[in-house]
Amino acid sequence: MRQPDSIINQDTLTTLEKALGADRLQRDVELAPFTTFKIGGPADLFYEAKTADELYHALLVAREIDLPFFLLGVGANILIGDGGFRGLVIRNAAQHMEAWTEKSQVWAESGAIVYPDLIDLAVSNGLSGIEHYVGIPSTVGGALWQNLHFLSPPPERKRTMFIEEVVLEADILTEEGDRRTVDVDYFEFGYDQSILHHRRDVVLSATFQLEPGDEARMREIMAANLDWRSKRHPPLDTEPSAGSIFKKIEGIGAGRLIDECGLKGTRIGGAEVTHRHANIMINRGGARAADVQALIAHVQKVVKRETGYRLEPEIAFIGAFDPPPTTEPIRVPKEDGMISAEERAA
Ligand SMILES: Cc1cc2nc3c(=O)[nH]c(=O)nc-3n(C[C@H](O)[C@H](O)[C@H](O)COP(=O)(O)OP(=O)(O)OC[C@H]3O[C@@H](n4cnc5c(N)ncnc54)[C@H](O)[C@@H]3O)c2cc1C
Repeated sequence: MRQPDSIINQDTLTTLEKALGADRLQRDVELAPFTTFKIGGPADLFYEAKTADELYHALLVAREIDLPFFLLGVGANILIGDGGFRGLVIRNAAQHMEAWTEKSQVWAESGAIVYPDLIDLAVSNGLSGIEHYVGIPSTVGGALWQNLHFLSPPPERKRTMFIEEVVLEADILTEEGDRRTVDVDYFEFGYDQSILHHRRDVVLSATFQLEPGDEARMREIMAANLDWRSKRHPPLDTEPSAGSIFKKIEGIGAGRLIDECGLKGTRIGGAEVTHRHANIMINRGGARAADVQALIAHVQKVVKRETGYRLEPEIAFIGAFDPPPTTEPIRVPKEDGMISAEERAA
């Protein structure tokens, strides 16, 4: 549902049109198509930055005139409210990339797509270190924000690997308005964590330090990881989602708790806890952000009551949210023949 009071006045519009180009600034753009959940109302203003310099410029202007803004990657870790976003959404489409084989490095603007674009560039240049993250929807900026992670290669799959292991440095615009190069330590990476969660810094581009690798072996790891994912995660094209909804609980597993509480297949409106993976909610078609919020609250309530654990959402909530519906959840049965991630793990 549209929030009635846009905060954009004529002065703001004139300043932005002058700075970014009247033909590049769009009004009332539906955000759902720009997210993997396919949920979210309109942005008052929408601008696509096609280079790191355009991104830098747009951020400076928005900050100068004190206009609320949101920087959007591929929208794979967020839920945008049905009321949309009051202010400017900057979609990061700055995707220039280069491979520097003599130094075993790849450099990319922060809107570059990790898979397939950046991984293909690295692997086809014989550079190893980011092939592990195949199949995960993400821009380079989003990957640094969340410290992208996945399991180490088969057959052992003995540990979780993090993108921080290959980050050398990044060009950022700091919260204070300085443009500077920072090294990996600056980011204070953790599990699903980086300094970007706590400071309004923005990554403009990043350099990754990789190692010479055997292309055939890298392609083998990529195929194995894609196969692993396809057997455990709902396919994004037919079952849109934002990946894991709740944060990991060390040694326990958020998904395991949800599964043990019998919550798979629980549905409110168009949002459903998928039978494929207990920690993933999918958009069954026409889901509203309010449905997802109500489903999150329901799962939290049941898990707390049954196990004592408090589940915390991993995704970010962006924009204006309507009150959740008061409809009771229903439960849909599992399709015949489906093997869930939890059954595979067991
Ligand atoms: C099906 C599916 C599977 C997934 N599997 C995994 C997985 O295995 N491992 C994993 O780690 N994650 C996984 N995720 C989560 C998601 O892919 C990552 O969190 C990803 O890094 C999000 O990137 P994005 O570009 O979509 O960021 P968005 O969702 O668009 O944005 C997320 C946040 O990052 C901020 N941001 C974006 N760009 C920048 C920038 N340049 N500078 C500063 N802040 C920025 C945004 O403002 C926002 O606050 C999965 C998601 C889905 C949908």
